[in-house]
Amino acid sequence: MPDTRVVQGRMVTPQHLAELIEDGDVMEAEAIEDTDRECPNCGGDVLEVGYMPSITEYVVGRKCQECDWSETDRD
Ligand SMILES: [Zn+2]
Repeated sequence: MPDTRVVQGRMVTPQHLAELIEDGDVMEAEAIEDTDRECPNCGGDVLEVGYMPSITEYVVGRKCQECDWSETDRD
């Protein structure tokens, strides 16, 4: 099993997590990291993943494991 986590009750890979944050396709994603942050919506644990939505862009995205909340460093 590669680097997967449970997000909203489903097992996700780094690529899938990045696609949830991006709400679209991503080219490449790095390993999922845990953070010390709490979700501002529900207080759940927040995961972080670096990914490339396109060949010229690198984004760090964060996503709650329990609800729909997410953000990126380009927000
Ligand atoms: Zn949440």
